[in-house]
Amino acid sequence: MRRKLVDELKGKGITDQRVLAAIGKVPRHQFIDDSAFDRFAYVDQAFPIGCGQTISQPYTVAFQSQLLGVKPGEKVLEIGTGCGYQTAILCELGAKVYSIERHKPLYLSTKTRLSAMGYKAHLVHGDGYKGLPVHAPFNKVIVTCGAPEIPAALVDQLVAGGTLVIPVGGEGGQSMMSVVRTADGVRHTAHGAFSFVPMVENKVGG
Ligand code: SAH
Repeated sequence: MRRKLVDELKGKGITDQRVLAAIGKVPRHQFIDDSAFDRFAYVDQAFPIGCGQTISQPYTVAFQSQLLGVKPGEKVLEIGTGCGYQTAILCELGAKVYSIERHKPLYLSTKTRLSAMGYKAHLVHGDGYKGLPVHAPFNKVIVTCGAPEIPAALVDQLVAGGTLVIPVGGEGGQSMMSVVRTADGVRHTAHGAFSFVPMVENKVGG
């Protein structure tokens, strides 16, 4: 089923072989404790994960990962851990991953899940708008929720030449932006329309 999903993603335009290999390896069916998910785990669609959130569609995970262009050994910050599927893909790409989630039940269950699966990511319960200054700078930052605007803290925490991939827009839909920090500012490029659950500022859930 994973091989079929990889073929489907290739058909939809994903070309990065390392990203395709990671999707082909990570057992997506293990990321939701709900037998209803078994039939949908390798279908290219989003699915509820509790707390009103969703696991991103595999195409979206592949697209953002390809845009991020992670190289082995890079430090990557993810905002919106959710169930940890994207986190696992980043680990498979060889990144040293830091990930922030605002919903405590998701943070806790994902921490248990990822360590049981052998993925070593540094998970944090908190507000991703602020980034993670104690562990900055990062080579790459990926946001997996829809942001009303680009949080300045996330750009500040990039190395020079580093990339932030972030869906920007309201609840009606977002534009996938790639923001590269250059020596004298930032360079933005837009990469199409997507639909994410919202990025919520200053409200860390218990
Ligand atoms: N990468 C996840 C996607 C989960 S959906 C996966 O593969 O499953 C996006 C997540 O972003 C949700 O879990 C939501 O709670 C979280 N989120 C929203 N605003 C946030 C914020 N300000 N800080 C941290 N996490 C946030």
